[in-house]
Amino acid sequence: MITLSNLDFQYPSGGGVLSSVSLSVGRGELVGLVGANGSGKSTLLSLVAGLYSPSSGSLSVGGVESPGDEKGIRARCRMVMQDADLQILGGTVEEDLLLGRRRTEDAVAAAHTMAARFHLLDVWDRPVQTLSWGMKRKLCLAAALLDGPEVLLLDEPFSGLDYPGMTEMRRLLVESRDAGLTQLVSSHDLECMVDLVDALVVLDGGRVALAGPPEEVLDHVRDHAVRPPCSWSTGLGIKPWGGGR
Ligand code: ADP
Repeated sequence: MITLSNLDFQYPSGGGVLSSVSLSVGRGELVGLVGANGSGKSTLLSLVAGLYSPSSGSLSVGGVESPGDEKGIRARCRMVMQDADLQILGGTVEEDLLLGRRRTEDAVAAAHTMAARFHLLDVWDRPVQTLSWGMKRKLCLAAALLDGPEVLLLDEPFSGLDYPGMTEMRRLLVESRDAGLTQLVSSHDLECMVDLVDALVVLDGGRVALAGPPEEVLDHVRDHAVRPPCSWSTGLGIKPWGGGR
């Protein structure tokens, strides 16, 4: 569904950010993109979302190529940014979920159903400024899913969430995977991802340092005594979430 081939990218202001990145994400897969701050995760997600085009190399999303048809790529993807406050444009949950849509009975019903799935019905009329960080995060995800994308790109969806918030976010990602959505999810926290995803890609300094099934990435880290370029606080192989996909 997503293929990056030998992709290099630098921002117009200069500075090589991504170098020789090749990776693929199959249709319906949930893939974790991990790496330290500044390793290029957000940049990579923005490229896959069609917000920039590669400086060299190429990427394709559902058969649509960049450089070339970034508009076609944007039609297939939704990206949920790290900072929910930058993404929420409606004044209330209801307004945000219906923003840019004709207010038909069907549109309101779809927004309602999505709000129920995300446990946001109780705050349907609330000004968004009064929502917790976790609720704002969920609202951004709900709004993205309402558009019915083929690919969901999530930038650090767990940051700033407490334990129940993280658990719920994980549940929502698993539900979306079960519904067949293709997802690429970034995190600086390997442990948040390791028992959740189908595959892991570890970015280090804009390059793919490791990639593969989570168990293989873990084995490599153990066998080669690699210090993963991201947070790993409770020890190798410990699954703090108790499995449960
Ligand atoms: P991460 O998401 O892993 O923290 P980023 O993709 O945000 O990493 O950043 C990778 C590198 O690109 C960093 O050195 C950062 O300073 C630089 N960078 C990010 N955004 C821009 C931008 N808009 N213009 C120039 N450089 C940028």
